[in-house]
Amino acid sequence: MSLNESVVHGSKASVKDLPSIDKLLRLPSVQAQLSAHGHTLVAGQARALVDDLRAQALAGVLAASAVTPDALGGALAERIAARIAPRMRRVINLTGTVIHTNLGRSVLPDVAIRHLTAMMAGPNNLEYNLDTGSRGDRDSIVEGLLCEITGAEAATVVNNNAAAVLLSLAALSGGREAIISRGELVEIGGAFRMPDVMDSAGARMVEVGTTNRTHLADYERAITERTAMLIKVHTSNYMVQGFTSAVSEAELAPLARARGVALVSDLGSGSLIDMGKYGLPQEPTPQQMLADGCDVVMFSGDKLLGGPQAGLIVGTREHIGRIRKFPMKRALRLSKLPLAALEATLQLYLQPELLVHELPTLRWLTRTQEQVAVAANAILEPLRAALAPRYTVTLEPMLSQIGSGSLPIDRLPSCGLAIAPVLSGKRGMGTALDALSDALRGLPAPIIGRIADDRVLLDCRCVDDPSEVINQLAGLRLAIIGEVA
Ligand SMILES: *Cc1c(COP(=O)(O)O)cnc(C)c1O
Repeated sequence: MSLNESVVHGSKASVKDLPSIDKLLRLPSVQAQLSAHGHTLVAGQARALVDDLRAQALAGVLAASAVTPDALGGALAERIAARIAPRMRRVINLTGTVIHTNLGRSVLPDVAIRHLTAMMAGPNNLEYNLDTGSRGDRDSIVEGLLCEITGAEAATVVNNNAAAVLLSLAALSGGREAIISRGELVEIGGAFRMPDVMDSAGARMVEVGTTNRTHLADYERAITERTAMLIKVHTSNYMVQGFTSAVSEAELAPLARARGVALVSDLGSGSLIDMGKYGLPQEPTPQQMLADGCDVVMFSGDKLLGGPQAGLIVGTREHIGRIRKFPMKRALRLSKLPLAALEATLQLYLQPELLVHELPTLRWLTRTQEQVAVAANAILEPLRAALAPRYTVTLEPMLSQIGSGSLPIDRLPSCGLAIAPVLSGKRGMGTALDALSDALRGLPAPIIGRIADDRVLLDCRCVDDPSEVINQLAGLRLAIIGEVA
């Protein structure tokens, strides 16, 4: 009798073969689980296991081999492990999008992870002034750094840039009008739409200009005694091309000043360094915006800046003071976890020569195609071996994206692995591509690639250590081909 037949025709267990919960908990292997995890979890999973087995027994499909002490102990251990496995998992980003919104955006530099871990392991001086022994302000942990780096008079931080925009609008508009170009009424994604945010902030939106062209005179005409501010919004994730014109912050500043209204700029990503210096497309910097005459500039902590999720607000003492005192600030304030990470990340900016190595976002963005090819090459042969003969693998040039609405149309020359199913014709193509993507995502460290032109593409731009991929290829072969490579 073959193995298969023995499973099909093998002896079945009935309900009376099932152990009591008590008996199950007394098994030596389960005793070990009890001392590792405590009674609540283990007993709960034991009950759930026996319930499942009972249902199978009643349906006549429970194999006798499933109710041996070994099998029961093993099944329970598996259930317990699955129950306490984290939902948040480390993944390997081979999508080619460096700042990937769905994959947690920027990856923290090591110094930030170390500082974060050290600060969270005990009490800290989050709101305690160690010089005076009195209550302190959490903003003061990063305010000096932000002012030094951007040249601002004052700075404050909140939970993310969406919160920074909401809070700044609410605090500075006071229910009055905010003037915005029709070309900048953006939707960032995740339901962040400028008109709705302005509405939520209680600012009365006054649109000026047209989708493609807005002029200084448009702003000028719209300013009345009801106007609180002019707001500029960086068109992060799209680009209007052709017959276009927009009014820069530098051009708006004298107008805002002359008419006594605030000039506020939402930079979105906002790099703190000149990206052009690294051969990357230029992004406006907060320091430039402040020098150009903005009263307040907001930007993200986890886009090009490469730190934790945070909304950074820099500007004049007067405007930042109003924002900080606004009651909504308390609800949007940054927690101590990202604050610690932000402090360490900003400190790296005091040592700009280190950034390109220490800041993962910048390290990955600045990698040349040749450097990416080295990682791709290291993976090529092992991957071929793992997928033969079902799939072929080739090393190919690819184009990476920066991501997260940063520099939307620019692509970075990159390199990666293109995996194609071995088929005669297109039949079964979708299934073969999905099977491979599923298997890659099912690995202990899930590998996330992308499908394009009937191939699974693995862009190696963000690979620091090829062995993270290579070490998993035996598991991939097992999942795809069913034998160990
Ligand atoms: C990304 C972005 C935001 C939102 O920033 P988060 O940090 O994601 O909250 C706001 N405005 C612009 C222009 C953006 O690009």
